[in-house]
Amino acid sequence: MPEQNFDLVILGGGSGGYAAALRAVQLGSSVALIEKNKLGGTCLHVGCIPTKALLHSAEVADVARESAKYGVNASLEGIDIAGVTAYRQEVVSSKFKGLTGLIKMRGITVIEGEGKLVAPNAVEVAGTRYVGKNVILATGSYSRSLPGLEIGGRVITSEQALELDFVPKKVAVLGGGVIGVEFSSVWKSWGADVTIIEALPHLVPNEDEAISKQFERAFRKRGINFKVGVRFQGVTQNDDGVVVTLENGETIEAELLLVAVGRGPSTAGLGFEEAGITMDRGFVLTNERLATNVPGVYAVGDIVPGLQLAHRGFQQGIFVAEEIAGLNPVVISDTNIPKVTYSDPEVASVGLSEAKAKELHGADNVSSYDYNLAGNGKSHIIGTSGLIKVVRVNDGPVVGVHMIGARVGELIGEAQLVVNWDAHPEDVAPLIHAHPTQNEALGEAFLALAGKPLHA
Ligand code: FAD
Repeated sequence: MPEQNFDLVILGGGSGGYAAALRAVQLGSSVALIEKNKLGGTCLHVGCIPTKALLHSAEVADVARESAKYGVNASLEGIDIAGVTAYRQEVVSSKFKGLTGLIKMRGITVIEGEGKLVAPNAVEVAGTRYVGKNVILATGSYSRSLPGLEIGGRVITSEQALELDFVPKKVAVLGGGVIGVEFSSVWKSWGADVTIIEALPHLVPNEDEAISKQFERAFRKRGINFKVGVRFQGVTQNDDGVVVTLENGETIEAELLLVAVGRGPSTAGLGFEEAGITMDRGFVLTNERLATNVPGVYAVGDIVPGLQLAHRGFQQGIFVAEEIAGLNPVVISDTNIPKVTYSDPEVASVGLSEAKAKELHGADNVSSYDYNLAGNGKSHIIGTSGLIKVVRVNDGPVVGVHMIGARVGELIGEAQLVVNWDAHPEDVAPLIHAHPTQNEALGEAFLALAGKPLHA
């Protein structure tokens, strides 16, 4: 069998894989990047980027609808889904063009085709073995379903939801996590009647409880229906739609059911177990330096247990490239990775929830401060309400920041620095925030926790 040799062979060209490739060539390695579909993976083609385009279109619809509040005479005539699609595709294809150009310019060898690990140091694609001194597994994830719940027809995943060529009138959404609320928010802004079903006690259940509760209030105010703490039982499909049955006997009729119950690792049949790699329910187990138990084999991105986020994958890819080059990079902590739920309103957080901080540091050693965005000038101007909550260890650092409100995802950068650098509120309280910005609210929360509340 023909064989080609590289310093590094990467299986999967999504966020984790291509970031590793870019960094590794920068550090002088020869790299083969194997991709069966399109470089950029889930995030670029069916995840982060196209969904944010839909959300922006939804926001524009809301602006048109609410324009009179700002003294502008405009109205929402309707949603032109072909126009939305063209806009979404233009955004994705422009980013894709940029990425493929960059990969080519950097001299990365892209192998198009489906790869399989045939030895710990070799991936086979269409009859050729690509052998690496090191191998990175980065094959990503797929939309999971529930046992017995078949995807097809009117029961769809986020991939089909993106491609809909009509605006549904009535949708049921199974799962109140990031992907479920994101689509719910879009469809509601476009005029649909939406009902979310979530088995856990709250929507966005992985967030600090104060934020989840406020999020529920905001969704309720927008007229988005949701049922929390109740399990899905089954669904039947007919020509007009679906009938969803819940464990408590309730039924929900809708045109479509979006299944957004999480993502599973795409590792089946790829030869990982046969190569001796330790796995757990399809995930690839690694140590904190992202090395598997098999020497020379690393894993990054959604196939590694933990947060399934593009920026985690990117960073892990960079980390492994540097690790292989002997640069001894700093270990990535999942706790301090920023998370954003993109919807109206947005949710952003980094670090520990108050409950988790109390569990780790003792209830008496933790304080928190909630700054209500109603007191923030810029929030008032742009018509948002919300909350910024900062959690600290007493006489110690800020360990968590949690936010809800319009565009708070853009504010998480500062919070992330503070949490990752173990800064105390007293350290950051003197920092000056530009006025009027929503960032000032974060500054006010730091001031309050440093014992110097200004407007509170
Ligand atoms: P992927 O991006 O899935 O890439 C894996 C690549 O490997 C794919 O291109 C695949 O084709 C390829 N591959 C798999 N098997 C093989 C094989 N055998 N041979 C060759 N190639 C193979 N994250 C965020 O941070 N922010 C967001 O806003 C966000 N929004 C999202 C919205 C949706 C609807 C979804 C579904 C996900 C979203 N995510 C978001 C998550 C994000 O997309 C993933 O965390 C990220 O893409 C994971 O990167 P990865 O490299 O692990 O895998």
